[in-house]
Amino acid sequence: MKLTLFFIQIIFLFHNSIFPQKLDTELYELSKRIVRNSLLDMKGYEWLRELCEIGPRLTGSENSYRAIHWAKRKMEEAGFDTVWLQPVMVPNWKRGDLEEATIVKSKKYKGRKLNITAFGGSVGTDEKGINGEIISVKDFNELKSKGELVKGKIVFFNRQLDFGEVEPFSGYGKAVDQRSRGAIEAAKFGAVGVIVRSITTKHDNVPHTGVMYYVDSLPKIPSVAVGYQDADFLMKAIEEEPDLMVNIKLSCQTFDDTLSYNVIGEIRGREFPDEVIVVGGHFDSWDKGCGAHDDGAGCVQSMEVLDLFKRMNYQPKRTIRCVLFIDEEQRQTGAIEYAKFASQSEQKHIAAIESDRGAFTPRGFYVDTDSATLNYLQSFLPYLNLAKIDWIRKGGSGVDVSKIKNTKALFGYVPDSQRYMDVHHSENDIFEMVHPREFQLGSAAMAILCLLISELGI
Ligand SMILES: [Zn+2]
Repeated sequence: MKLTLFFIQIIFLFHNSIFPQKLDTELYELSKRIVRNSLLDMKGYEWLRELCEIGPRLTGSENSYRAIHWAKRKMEEAGFDTVWLQPVMVPNWKRGDLEEATIVKSKKYKGRKLNITAFGGSVGTDEKGINGEIISVKDFNELKSKGELVKGKIVFFNRQLDFGEVEPFSGYGKAVDQRSRGAIEAAKFGAVGVIVRSITTKHDNVPHTGVMYYVDSLPKIPSVAVGYQDADFLMKAIEEEPDLMVNIKLSCQTFDDTLSYNVIGEIRGREFPDEVIVVGGHFDSWDKGCGAHDDGAGCVQSMEVLDLFKRMNYQPKRTIRCVLFIDEEQRQTGAIEYAKFASQSEQKHIAAIESDRGAFTPRGFYVDTDSATLNYLQSFLPYLNLAKIDWIRKGGSGVDVSKIKNTKALFGYVPDSQRYMDVHHSENDIFEMVHPREFQLGSAAMAILCLLISELGI
């Protein structure tokens, strides 16, 4: 008896893989229409062009407010059922006009400039800047082994993204501590500043910014990224002249936190309006380029998911809500605020999808869920294949949606990743780097996933 029960349980658990669900012809046709409309209309792509024309959207900047009101207006014009701004206090770091690194002591290279940019959150310098000899290290262990030698110097963290990793995100993950914690670790040994080799897959000379942190117990020292080619140059120059000295001048500053907003719009469900599927990206960007891939694209794709339903005149069974989270890049205050709202809401968040890996050709979805739900979700693949989605695997969703508690599943949209780190957090991240068809297939992939969760449940 017990054994029979056990087998019934096993069959139930693997039901969907043993007896794949029959394709629902109506949903399959709708999915096909989603792909076709997305590719033909290019509405999201044109929205992204408008958004990029506003400029970059650093949290607390004038542009960020212009963009917030632009998105609200677009959602209203598209006829979403409800559109609102959710207030939230955000960090307010400003770059300022001055950022310069110059070799000031060297027989051969005196006066040569390095192509640098401050990391977000870095302190500035006074007008004279800071001077220091360069001490090059690959990681925090090497830094520690240099000990006393670090005092009064500028630490040059010279470890590149691991190019041997097939996934650039993994290579990035292995290098990013230099940027985020480099100033803390260097300050422990009395360094006066930090220069970090840009974490990029492109061997150009464009510096890549990103967030960095301090702790109150240590001196706050300036921290900058240097272009890949100038990192190579600096490496060679200090081999030739170990006492070479660099001056860094920065006028960036951190101001008090300021008021900003998440932009939210939804289409109410026809049968279960209190069951919510969130689709979103982060609306802030760094102030280099215009945050086209990171994450203007993810935001506009999320807006377009709802717009595709509108265009097809299809009211989903469950509520689909687009959330453009402010301040992902620095402290995730927007995501925290939304998650708080979600946990207090009478509505139930059944799933959330984030697009924050660029707008390249669709590949798959990572999903944070239990094994039975993952099995069930695999049955969506024949529909998602229409938009070039090949797989659904267990994995991390996204920084913003992962804060929402008690959903059945959290998804991260995964496009091809090989070119993402070329543009990430740099002036390379402009509208022209986004391919219209790759972008539109992403909108379609997320719209099909929303359709299936909405109509079939999860
Ligand atoms: Zn991002």
